[in-house]
Amino acid sequence: KVDPSYQPLTTDMLAIRLGKIDALTTLLGTDTSTWTSKEVGDGNLNLVFIVQSDQGSVIVKQALPYVRLVGDSWPLPLRRSYFEYHALIRQDKRAPDTVPEVYYFDETQAIIVMEYFNSHVILRQSMMAGKTHSGLAETLGLYCARTLFRGSDLSMNTANRKADMALFANSVELCDITETLVFSDPYFNAERNHHTPQLDALVATLRSDVDLKVEAHHLKAKFCNNAETMLHGDLHTGSVMVSDTETKVIDPEFALYGPMGFDIGMLLANFWMAYFAQPGHAEAPGARVAYQEWILGVVDEIWTIFSTEFSRLWREERTGILYEKTLFEDQGHALASEQALSHRLNDIWQDTLGFAGVEIIRRTLSLAHIAENETIENDELRADCEARGLKLGRALVVNRTRMNSMASVHDLARVIA
Ligand code: ADP
Ligand code: MG
Ligand code: MG
Ligand code: MG
Repeated sequence: KVDPSYQPLTTDMLAIRLGKIDALTTLLGTDTSTWTSKEVGDGNLNLVFIVQSDQGSVIVKQALPYVRLVGDSWPLPLRRSYFEYHALIRQDKRAPDTVPEVYYFDETQAIIVMEYFNSHVILRQSMMAGKTHSGLAETLGLYCARTLFRGSDLSMNTANRKADMALFANSVELCDITETLVFSDPYFNAERNHHTPQLDALVATLRSDVDLKVEAHHLKAKFCNNAETMLHGDLHTGSVMVSDTETKVIDPEFALYGPMGFDIGMLLANFWMAYFAQPGHAEAPGARVAYQEWILGVVDEIWTIFSTEFSRLWREERTGILYEKTLFEDQGHALASEQALSHRLNDIWQDTLGFAGVEIIRRTLSLAHIAENETIENDELRADCEARGLKLGRALVVNRTRMNSMASVHDLARVIA
């Protein structure tokens, strides 16, 4: 039930409604006649305004009581803003300088006022334009290792951990969207699905592939049951912003407790889909071949940085409920702790591949597709790019326990491409 005092913001009313809030006047000044606001939301769900004055700038993000992409026929609770706020302040502590700083939060109005990344663009757009970014893999690898480790029972004490699990367990509706759109809809003819018509035959093959269906559902069970850590929950390349020198992560409204491999898998899947989509954006045939290799290099480096940093945190910050140092190192069992680390990393690796596979499949067959493919106007060419992704996705889901290195995944991607 929407609070009767809730009102969506408009550019005309924004300064009037928010002009007395200290957090904003400190940054923008008290003379609201100098404030300008522009709505820039390009996402599927929310209103996003850039508010500027001659003194500064902020982002104002407000949830709508329905799915923006679909309209008011699909209601969605405002309290997702509450989960986004709680995720942002946790991520900022766990991975400093990577997510927008929060300046103000109004739960009833579902408004978050946050840091504006004014020289950054969405990574997905940048990859369609064929641009490279230095430091991208490093920031994303560190971000994943730090948020996933520090939000887990490897780091947190039992009281904090239970409190956080309880908080995010209330994010029922957004979790339900992921459970349905990512893990179930792609595998049958669900109402909200759509796909490129030229893929009909391949889609029929995938939907009759029971090995794929069973493995995808094992991954769904893992997503629902393995509350390992606080996930971003929607970590695709549209939630990453880049400038010439910086990489930032935004939009954690889908935050929940789930398996570590889900965030990394979704992220890598979106790089792999960008890889397969390059022929649809090439200036001339073959013009993006070097760029495709750059993308694979970024993926390789994200995994290396992630596993290196995760190992460092395991050795230096293991202060939580699990694998206590008192039980391992202090008993002369440092080697056993290294053994446990490598088991855990191997589990995360296999989960990452599996979740990447279901992400590729759902972005091609379910409701929400990716701009890299949607902007390819030629149906045949788009189907060709998407089919390659689907083939990798199927292999990742079904064979994830038999793929032992990123090099072998990328050899497969190159053969498919
Ligand atoms: P949604 O939840 O609706 O997807 P997002 O948080 O992804 O909304 O924001 C939508 C768009 O607004 C982003 O793609 C980006 O262009 C812009 N945006 C959001 N947050 C920021 C920010 N902190 N700095 C700069 N631009 C932002
Ligand atoms: Mg978004
Ligand atoms: Mg900061
Ligand atoms: Mg969002």
